[in-house]
Amino acid sequence: MELGEGMLPATQRAIVFPARGRAEVRDVPVPRFFGENGSWNVVLRPLAVGRCPSDTASCEEEFPPGFRLPSATQAVVPGHEQVVEVVGASEAARRAGIEVGGWYVYDINIGCGEPDCYACSVQKRPGIDCSKGTLFQGIGAANETWVLRQTGLRHVPGSYVYDPVGRRGGIMVGRHTQLHRVDRSRLRDEGDLAVLTQADGLACAYTAIRGVAKLHAWEEGYRPALFLIGGGGRIAYWLAEAALAERGPDGVDLFLADVDADRLALTAARLGLPRGNTYLVDANNPDAFCAAEIRRGLPNLEAGRSFNLVLDAAGHKYVGAAATNRMFREKVLDRNGTYITTAHGGIPGLDVAAFEVVFANQRFSGALSPHRYIPRAVAHLQANLPRYAPHMVITHREIDDSLAQKVRTAGKDPDIGRGANTYIALWHRNPNSSPPEGRL
Ligand SMILES: [Zn+2]
Ligand SMILES: [Zn+2]
Repeated sequence: MELGEGMLPATQRAIVFPARGRAEVRDVPVPRFFGENGSWNVVLRPLAVGRCPSDTASCEEEFPPGFRLPSATQAVVPGHEQVVEVVGASEAARRAGIEVGGWYVYDINIGCGEPDCYACSVQKRPGIDCSKGTLFQGIGAANETWVLRQTGLRHVPGSYVYDPVGRRGGIMVGRHTQLHRVDRSRLRDEGDLAVLTQADGLACAYTAIRGVAKLHAWEEGYRPALFLIGGGGRIAYWLAEAALAERGPDGVDLFLADVDADRLALTAARLGLPRGNTYLVDANNPDAFCAAEIRRGLPNLEAGRSFNLVLDAAGHKYVGAAATNRMFREKVLDRNGTYITTAHGGIPGLDVAAFEVVFANQRFSGALSPHRYIPRAVAHLQANLPRYAPHMVITHREIDDSLAQKVRTAGKDPDIGRGANTYIALWHRNPNSSPPEGRL
């Protein structure tokens, strides 16, 4: 269909965050801020949505900085890791190659795109670099003014929307520039579809590995050592996969640390790592991250060797400023190494307002944006579907209160990081139609 309101229902079911720390299911108006001539020019139906701690950070007002609940103008609808079907597109979107009926990964990191923004209009680096503050669709916006001007909304709804009559995903409005095509013919089943929701998580890992650590630029034959803290969880798992994709299995040494023995063992098995590369952390030990304890925990770490890259995907949980500082001082991190945290607010006690600090040659940095790596992530996931599909756990096929509470607590849910499993809500199936030839 072309863009038009005719076929859209008045309301749909959605998960909403009505106040800080609360989530519930409501009937909300179907968004209608799309326009034939504006930049919000595609109408989308989510097929599958991945659960992510960033949803929790939004519900807790931890991210983006300055984001506050409730939104004065409309309900805040989360959901930001999705594969969508395009159900309506403006003429400009269709001219740009967007196909109605096509399946796409949708990138929620949106810049203003306005002519007075150097990052968006000249550098063509929208997303994290937008001078007006990035909009994270489905999460929030640090600076809501331009979002309000463009859409009449302070929050642009995400993908936890559901059509209870058609028993399928509801309606999302987006921008055609954010769509990355999925090769549908490669998908064997719904597990494969679920894998593609992880494009955002893997792209963030590429930002850390390629963009911040510049691991791809290291000379041939050099074998960097990576230390993944929170290594049993999903984010660390994708960081490991991004490093392996860049360096190959013989081009990098991976070491994992985690407080949960089960998920540590499961993730190590998935990555093919021997036991001597995994460190089970005692969260009550104040010296858990001193050099001597880490070496004791990792017998396969050669004497005298330090880590070229520390990726801390547990920062705000059991690694505080003291532990981080100690890893710098005691040269657990190499003298020229990089320490990257994925904690939304940095690490409590480390004052890094600009999210990057240099101690001598050691760098401290954050990495939470997919930047420009979504196409690379989609290509990698599509090429490795059988490797990732077994990790996908499809938990819900419609929106109900149990899903709302799971989304609210994703970052604290004990099973979210269980062995790098990935939890997906999936509702692409119209129960009345059978997929052709076993394909979706
Ligand atoms: Zn996410
Ligand atoms: Zn901009």
